[in-house]
Amino acid sequence: MNDQFSRRHFTKLAVGAVIVGFNPDERSWVTQASDSARPFDHLPKLDGALLLDEASRRAIASDQGNMFHRVPAAVLKPGSVQDIVAMVRYANQHRLKVAIRGDGHSRYGQTQAEAGVVIDSRSLNEVRVRTPHSADAQLGAFWSAVADATLPKGLTPRLFPGTCLALLTVGGTLSAGGIGNMSPHYGALVDNVSDLDVITGDGRLVTCSPEHESELFDMVLAGQGQCGVIVRAGLPLMPASTHVVHHELTYTDLDAYLTDQLRLAREGRFDGQRGTMMRDQGGTWSFLIEVGKFFTPPNEPNIRALEGDLHFASAAAPARMTYHDYLFRLETRGGVAPGRPSPFITMWIPASVTRTYLDNILSLTPEAAALVRFQGVEQFGCYPLNTRRFTRPLFKVPSEEQAFAVWLFRSVSPGDEVALSALLASNRDLLAKMTAAGGKRYAPYSMVISPAEWQAHYGPEVWPRLVAAKAKYDPNRVLSPHPAIFGEK
Ligand SMILES: Cc1cc2nc3c(=O)[nH]c(=O)nc-3n(C[C@H](O)[C@H](O)[C@H](O)COP(=O)(O)OP(=O)(O)OC[C@H]3O[C@@H](n4cnc5c(N)ncnc54)[C@H](O)[C@@H]3O)c2cc1C
Repeated sequence: MNDQFSRRHFTKLAVGAVIVGFNPDERSWVTQASDSARPFDHLPKLDGALLLDEASRRAIASDQGNMFHRVPAAVLKPGSVQDIVAMVRYANQHRLKVAIRGDGHSRYGQTQAEAGVVIDSRSLNEVRVRTPHSADAQLGAFWSAVADATLPKGLTPRLFPGTCLALLTVGGTLSAGGIGNMSPHYGALVDNVSDLDVITGDGRLVTCSPEHESELFDMVLAGQGQCGVIVRAGLPLMPASTHVVHHELTYTDLDAYLTDQLRLAREGRFDGQRGTMMRDQGGTWSFLIEVGKFFTPPNEPNIRALEGDLHFASAAAPARMTYHDYLFRLETRGGVAPGRPSPFITMWIPASVTRTYLDNILSLTPEAAALVRFQGVEQFGCYPLNTRRFTRPLFKVPSEEQAFAVWLFRSVSPGDEVALSALLASNRDLLAKMTAAGGKRYAPYSMVISPAEWQAHYGPEVWPRLVAAKAKYDPNRVLSPHPAIFGEK
């Protein structure tokens, strides 16, 4: 499709040029200033803006991985849900591809559509508390906005992303899956949605839930934008505790760390739980469990009484903080300097093989590991999941009852092609070993893989459902050309 576009035409368009339509014969956009004597199809009336100027298109041509750059023909800043309906229908008429972008934290070009239209969802970002039991969040709302809307009312969703609430959008994380500190109790973000408004690939606005249009609901959550655009998510709410006792427990023995992590997750002894592996400058690894117990004064918990049988080597003093500060305490974790190629990978490893698998990572030199440092310390996330709490079909987890989430945030200097290709080779090696061990990859940090690998990832029960859903809801294959799950770009 790319070659059919009149690149000369759309790169000439100036900032502020008013686009009135699309010329299907020349496959180019038409502005007021263009020769309007030629036949063209008028654009639908939009509440927002369709930007064709080069600066806007280039600004959205990269994602945060800084490895893939595809310049779209236009950027839609929707002013309403109807704008997305209209643009998706228009794209169907004109064989345009449409990609959906939250904040672009996926790494492998998933939010890009060369010579197509990218929907910049951040302009639709309202969050509304509907009842004491549920909130509505629009696609481009950041999770920080969900916290801002709910916490002052004494309410909270069951689960937030574990870090960086101000960077991650509701639409993006629900299309990826989303895990957080409360995942041992509640599974993924996609397990904690009551209903959705979705614009299907053929441009229909449909409300879906486990009871109504359930196949669409199943195929959109963790669905990587393949079947529809999530425009509203219903988030169940519950009363929020006001405070948290947060405690950091440091381990030097990896076996003890893994055993205690699994046990705590299985028992649900704490409300929040995560874990980090850190290497000091002398090359020695240590392992941190962070636990959080939620409470509302005066019911302050005795956190040490909950830790008596754990095997940590040392511990900081427990920290008492507000629930809000607890949620936002890791806002700068995992940030990468602008422009650095950063091929992150994230995977879920079956618990029984995690100890052996981790040797592949812990034995890498700092140069080969290329881990993003936080406060100068080399580190990566590693914490347990109770897989039975993950119920959405497209959020694939290992078959064992417990698994470890392993987050490798890796990055190299801009322009260092040798280091980047070594890192990509290392990623492929680690992912191949993960797959051989029965693990599953996390879609936004999956690396680029073939349709056959996606088929194997989803497995014989889910893959045919996804293929059928794509044919039903996006028959012209307009939506989300990347990650090329079905082989076309
Ligand atoms: C510093 C940092 C911390 C992170 N912490 C966590 C964490 O704690 N837990 C966790 O699970 N993940 C975490 N992530 C990963 C994060 O979930 C992914 O990066 C994910 O891609 C969400 O980012 P985004 O909102 O920018 O969405 P994008 O990357 O823009 O989009 C993600 C995918 O969803 C599609 N999409 C976006 N919006 C929609 C929509 N409305 N409808 C349909 N499809 C859509 C996109 O096309 C793309 O395929 C973290 C990432 C970073 C960089």
